[in-house]
Amino acid sequence: MPKYVYSFGGGHAEGKAEMKNLLGGKGANLAEMVKIGLPVPAGFTMSTEVCTYYYDHKKTLPKTLEKEVIAAIKKVEKAMGAKFGDVKNPLLMSVRSGARASMPGMMDTILNLGINDAVAEGLVKKTGNPRFVYDSYRRFVQMYGDVVLGLKPVHKDEIDPFEVIIEKKKHEKGVQLDTDLTAEDMKDLIVKFKAAVKEKTGHDFPQDPMKQLWGAAGAVFNSWNNERAIAYRKMYDIPVAWGTAVNIQSMVFGNMGEDSGTGVAFTRDAATGENVFYGEYLMNAQGEDVVAGTRTPLPISDLARQNPKIYKELDKIRLKLEKHYRDMNDIEFTIQQGKLYMLQCRVGKRTAFAAIKIAVDMVTEKLITDKEALERIDPDQLNQLLRPIFDLKEKDAAVKNGRLLAKGLNAGPGAATGRVVFNAPDAEEWKSRGEKIILVRIETSPEDIKGMDASEGILTARGGMTSHAALVARQMGKVCVAGCSELNIDYTSHTMVVKGKTIKEGDWISLDGTTGEVLEGKIPTKPSEVLQVLVDKTLDPKKAPIYQTYAKVMAWADKYRKLNIRTNADQPDQAINAVAFGAEGIGLCRTEHMFFGEGKIGPMREMILAENVEDRKKALAKLLPLQREDFAGIFEAMNGRPVTIRTIDPPLHEFVPHEEKEQRELAQTMGVSFEKVKRRVASLHEFNPMLGFRGCRLGIIYPEITEMQSRAIFEAAAQTQLKGIKVLPEVMIPLVGNVKELADQEKIVRRVAAEVMAEKKVKFPYLVGTMIEVPRGAVTADAIAKVAEFFSFGTNDLTQTTMGMSRDDSASFLVPYVAREIYGKDPFEVLDREGVGELMKIAIEKGRKTRPTLKVGICGEHGGDPSSVEFCHQIGNNYVSCSPFRVPIAKLAAARAALYRDENTIYFLGEDHEIKRTNVQCY
Ligand code: PEP
Ligand code: MG
Repeated sequence: MPKYVYSFGGGHAEGKAEMKNLLGGKGANLAEMVKIGLPVPAGFTMSTEVCTYYYDHKKTLPKTLEKEVIAAIKKVEKAMGAKFGDVKNPLLMSVRSGARASMPGMMDTILNLGINDAVAEGLVKKTGNPRFVYDSYRRFVQMYGDVVLGLKPVHKDEIDPFEVIIEKKKHEKGVQLDTDLTAEDMKDLIVKFKAAVKEKTGHDFPQDPMKQLWGAAGAVFNSWNNERAIAYRKMYDIPVAWGTAVNIQSMVFGNMGEDSGTGVAFTRDAATGENVFYGEYLMNAQGEDVVAGTRTPLPISDLARQNPKIYKELDKIRLKLEKHYRDMNDIEFTIQQGKLYMLQCRVGKRTAFAAIKIAVDMVTEKLITDKEALERIDPDQLNQLLRPIFDLKEKDAAVKNGRLLAKGLNAGPGAATGRVVFNAPDAEEWKSRGEKIILVRIETSPEDIKGMDASEGILTARGGMTSHAALVARQMGKVCVAGCSELNIDYTSHTMVVKGKTIKEGDWISLDGTTGEVLEGKIPTKPSEVLQVLVDKTLDPKKAPIYQTYAKVMAWADKYRKLNIRTNADQPDQAINAVAFGAEGIGLCRTEHMFFGEGKIGPMREMILAENVEDRKKALAKLLPLQREDFAGIFEAMNGRPVTIRTIDPPLHEFVPHEEKEQRELAQTMGVSFEKVKRRVASLHEFNPMLGFRGCRLGIIYPEITEMQSRAIFEAAAQTQLKGIKVLPEVMIPLVGNVKELADQEKIVRRVAAEVMAEKKVKFPYLVGTMIEVPRGAVTADAIAKVAEFFSFGTNDLTQTTMGMSRDDSASFLVPYVAREIYGKDPFEVLDREGVGELMKIAIEKGRKTRPTLKVGICGEHGGDPSSVEFCHQIGNNYVSCSPFRVPIAKLAAARAALYRDENTIYFLGEDHEIKRTNVQCY
């Protein structure tokens, strides 16, 4: 008989942290906390296999489940000394979702389950606290009504139907806060809530605790497929097949009076990464009050004064958890009449700044190794370190000019400027029009997730550092200022009033997520600390702590990676930036980009319009010195590092004007007739230029172009070498599908190289190789490698030609394809391992059979994508090449790939996104 239910509490647990796939993150960690002796209210977990069964069997539950649940309830009753559904001594339960990967707020939770009219009466007798009992009961009806019975707002401007009833009651009583309502008020609210339920559903509110329990469990399983959970899974690559577990746990109450309370905390600061206990709590409140942002909670440091005994105990738990999990945790706790209970722990979400700082600090603290530190930093997180910050002078000037509107909590660091919108659907709509926007909400909820994703920054009026807005923004890497209570937001008029100023929808504001400041108008940004040190060289590295942390990570990445990292650069300044980021060579210099530079497009057009070899050669002679200077600049910048230069690739029609006015101008400057220009442009027209007269085909039909380009490369090489700077040119022939194409071009390149060396009386090393970017090239790689000294995968074209999808026209169907999971990701962004990847493997295998020393790289856009970098490591590439700003990301991805493949020590995100790790849960 399969086991579906796992109990914990009373000093024993059937689960453990490693069982996250089966028990979900929450369930596995509750069990683990029991195992390490922390105070956890007893409960049990229905495994993720129940969820899978539920969806595989038309939303029905396994037959044997009920028996297991009843037995588990008995164990909980024993541990807690109370009985589920009992009138005299009742046990109330919480029901929460818990998937393998944390999905904060995406699925549903129900508290105080097991209460009904009779149990409520019994509880009043037992506790002598009718206010608490009826408050708990009304919360239960409200949550159950929302989650299980579907009483929730439908339209974006609608308000929660239960909140409408509460607001009306508060208005009647002339009070501001929920806490000002009396027991009798709560009792009355329950009657009204139940009436609303009856009206909406046609049924009475369920009184049977077991019926409540099954209803709640079913709702949690259903919530695995609610719209926001689906959106979240998509965003974070969580497979639908994982399912969620359901945790049913005895309630402890933070709302039993002033000696009770509840809180959430991080064992370190999740925004900055600082090693301080960071969190918030509220006395006389239930958990949801803290995260929902309806009351602004107090900082955890206040608890040290308010209740030093509990604070000390909590701080001890913080240290124990960090030592045990060897990572920063986020925790939820409740104090019930002076006794502390742990309700949750998990590895905490953090900003990119924090992720990197915590990982680096934990190496210094000897909690983890440098390898583990690398495994913990998602390569894309490095992006956040490279993002702009406000220009301080401009910001100070704005403050001096009275543009500081308000100050809130610095929930998500960074700088953002955008136009204000007041709800998530508008945010998505404005973004689709290309606007930069700031989403302003009183508080956010999981429904807002897509709108948050569309925004540059998020500003909320309520809620603390652990509010929904703060958590989600940090995870998304968004700038966020939360809990900015001075804002007076009016959703209906789409305005907010702050400091007497009215900000309307569409007005510009700026958020400093590092300080929590909100400023009126646009504020220019400037490069991040890392860029100021490395690229602009305007900041002393000693005065740049973020840079120092970044540099440590890069040093460790360099220590473990096996792949070389090159860059795609066509200009000396790009090459200089890339070298500053640690690029070890140029993997692709697209020479045609140079033709668009100053003074070059004219001779280029002359060359294209020429009607005979003589005229073409004349035009090429004008281009030669211009290209030579570009190459010399690049060789100097790269200072001996390999530079792969590709001969001209795109179809010629890309270089000529298509508008009549421009064609007339060109005819005039060239001294030819307009008709001639028009005729030539028309003759260059192709129906499918991507598969037309481009790549090596140009150089084969017009060998003088290859000749000129080779001469420019080698003369530049000679000139640089003569200056005492080493050079290593690698001439790359594009779009080769047949070895004869390459052999034709190679002959020209080698002849010119020999001529230049003889003329200039200098010797330098050079290579001739090819791009593998059509399937025929990959499958005949053994023949091609007879000529090619290196391969570089042009995966933009290889994806296009392998999949038969135009790289320029695929957005219209690829977006829905990805939405329907036909392809997991856009194959032009993340390498399609099964198709394109397979061809790459064949090419490497066949190529190295012919030429064991064959050097292999990649220079398509995939070269900067972490998953594709990992694949390139696995199939034996020598290097990847990406844009200069992605070099740090590629380095880290390469190190992580090397650590997994070569040592398989810690954990990895593999094909099925399974996360394997020795003793720590993932995030
Ligand atoms: C490629 O096809 O991957 C490539 C790098 O070349 P381009 O993008 O210039 O066609
Ligand atoms: Mg290409």
